[in-house]
Amino acid sequence: MHFFRYRGKDFYAEGVPVSRIAKQVGTPVFIYSHKTLNRHYEAFHKAFSGVPHIICYSVKANSNLAVIKTFVDEGSGFDIVSGGELFRALKAGADPKKIVFSGVGKTRDEIEYAIKKGILMFNVESPQELREINKIAGRLKKKTRIAIRVNPDVDPRTHPYISTGLKKNKFGIETEEAVKEYIYARRYLKNLEPVGVDCHIGSQITQLSPFIDALRKTRELVRLLRDQGIAISHLNLGGGLGITYEEERPPHPSRYGQAVIRETKGLDNLTLIFEPGRAMVGNAGILLTRVLYTKKGTMKNFIITDAAMNDLARPSLYGSYHAIKASKRRAGEELTADVVGPICESGDFLARGRELPALAPGDLLCVMSAGAYGFSMSSNYNSRTRAAEVMVKGRTYSVIRKRETFRDLIRGEVY
Ligand SMILES: *Cc1c(COP(=O)(O)O)cnc(C)c1O
Repeated sequence: MHFFRYRGKDFYAEGVPVSRIAKQVGTPVFIYSHKTLNRHYEAFHKAFSGVPHIICYSVKANSNLAVIKTFVDEGSGFDIVSGGELFRALKAGADPKKIVFSGVGKTRDEIEYAIKKGILMFNVESPQELREINKIAGRLKKKTRIAIRVNPDVDPRTHPYISTGLKKNKFGIETEEAVKEYIYARRYLKNLEPVGVDCHIGSQITQLSPFIDALRKTRELVRLLRDQGIAISHLNLGGGLGITYEEERPPHPSRYGQAVIRETKGLDNLTLIFEPGRAMVGNAGILLTRVLYTKKGTMKNFIITDAAMNDLARPSLYGSYHAIKASKRRAGEELTADVVGPICESGDFLARGRELPALAPGDLLCVMSAGAYGFSMSSNYNSRTRAAEVMVKGRTYSVIRKRETFRDLIRGEVY
């Protein structure tokens, strides 16, 4: 559910015609709907209202300060995977007591920074990392909460690049080995406080069963650890709930919530943590781009836009589908075309083999569901300035990130 739609002939973000934003801010531009962000957070929050829980929005899906601030205002916590994301979250006013830190390669500096800020806990992904945290916490004389991220060996049935809970993936620690790490942590109670069990099995998951499989395995681990006297107070089920890009029918957060609550009945004094990213921001954003040229090849038609794979990497990276809509609805003949960017790579496409109305230079296209892993994955490849970002609220909008300039491109460079 989102607030982007045609009103009459024109495409709107909430109460603002996207053509107005293009005129005033230029293209390409990411447009986010504030109301959609709120709605998604509340759907998640409500799904777990009956049990102690913390929603930790996964910052990497969209790390714009205004997006983070929107969730701060809702009372959200945050899942971070780098020192840079911690910096962003704190800048936007996040409560460190609701921040969890995931990732297989936390550096010493990042660990120290997070301990000093007093985050809720580290999601530890290897035995060596645990020893590093132990050492740094000892040096800083700050007792630090940890969860072990276990790899439950569950197939999330999603794209291989975003499946993270299989034995062959680099993430987490296998369950049996994880038990040893909890016992290690218990030996250093001066520095470490093992309070959580964590897992995150992948992204764009559109069925409930992989979540439930992972939950059953981690739930057993919570019991086992508690039996051994390790006071596990938090179970973190990660993120990964999918969204509709094309025809997918992912479970609504409320169904996900019901299933999780059912499966965790009987575990007392347990706070659930969730780390949704895509489900919170994916459908709350679009990428607005202008047609530069149209070109008829002998085998294919091409629509060349001013947005490219550096703005939205998902189609090139994962072969992902994003719906594309013209900002002006029109009847008439449709044409099958590839929508491509100006970058010098044949992998630079936003869509392939799409039926689109006849388009002309200057027309605007909306690339739908671009709020997650859109701008946050963008780059300056081909020395392209990164797009502007805009937040719409009702009938008004603000620029929440200025379009980059050529000066921005060379910042920090020396010859
Ligand atoms: C990326 C990530 C998430 C968010 O995943 P979504 O599929 O966007 O919900 C949550 N937790 C961890 C550890 C992640 O790496």
